[in-house]
Amino acid sequence: MSGTIETVGVIGAGQMGGGIAQVSAIAGFKVLLYDISAESIEKGLATISGNMARMVGSGKLEEDARQAALARITAAPGMADLATADLVIEAATEDETVKRKIFAQLCPQLNPEAIIATNTSSISITRLASQTDRPERFMGIHFMNPVPVMKLVELVRGIATDDKTFDAAKTFVGKLDKTITVSEDFPAFIVNRILLPMINEAIYTLYEGVGSVDAIDTAMKLGANHPMGPLQLADFIGLDTCLSIMQVLHDGLSDSKYRPCPLLVKYVEAGWLGRKTGRGFYDYRGEHPVPTR
Ligand code: NAD
Repeated sequence: MSGTIETVGVIGAGQMGGGIAQVSAIAGFKVLLYDISAESIEKGLATISGNMARMVGSGKLEEDARQAALARITAAPGMADLATADLVIEAATEDETVKRKIFAQLCPQLNPEAIIATNTSSISITRLASQTDRPERFMGIHFMNPVPVMKLVELVRGIATDDKTFDAAKTFVGKLDKTITVSEDFPAFIVNRILLPMINEAIYTLYEGVGSVDAIDTAMKLGANHPMGPLQLADFIGLDTCLSIMQVLHDGLSDSKYRPCPLLVKYVEAGWLGRKTGRGFYDYRGEHPVPTR
């Protein structure tokens, strides 16, 4: 690698990985997209193609640019297919065991100069970096959901991250036309440290019967001027991701104020993970979302 990022590997073709692949390809980077199975990669590619088609429909992207961007994304069915990446962004499930296994398989495949970033919402960058062969070339690049729409990216250095890596990440994110904030490496960083306890409290408000799903979301939309209610937002983020972030806050800061609401645990146990599985605090399987409580 010459020091500039040209090829970006993305691990995880879900909501976030798909979005990161999409914005990177539109910005002119070559993208290699990896997921656990060929089927998941195909599904991710189909979603990206559909999202870009909607952008063309609303005049945000030219058809030529859509085709060129899609042509820049290649499926990477095996970790070895990420070998030419200058930067790999890990956006797999928010589970430290999953991420550790990924880094163990990934590192031997990469150019020693390549940078590894994680899109984790909450897990310690320093701890994840220590699982790799290059803690100085490892950092957090935390995109917001949906990636093509949200302007912010949090940059998080681990204790060992060097300046060259941080600067390369800053330049990369700048080319995606996003705004950067820098967060220290503490559980859940800035946005989720503030946002998730609010969502968790909304779930407690439901659990304790203070209000219905509809009452809570309407209250926060019209009473606090939030564009989305907190339960609607939880479904949008994914309830498994919300629970995982609360567990990281609870474990990492050892403060009972972060205890995950038992009702959130129950929804995750049911596999009702929000929009991505068709059901969460709302049921999305019909024409309009219907509260599930
Ligand atoms: P998701 O469930 O939509 O996608 C996760 C993807 O990871 C799936 O496609 C899954 O097949 C894949 N995966 C699981 N194990 C894998 C493995 N071993 N190797 C390769 N791929 C694997 O989840 P998401 O919402 O895209 O979240 C991904 C990451 O982004 C998490 O770390 C999450 O905390 C973070 N994040 C999420 C949001 C959000 O609002 N959802 C926002 C910012 C950051």
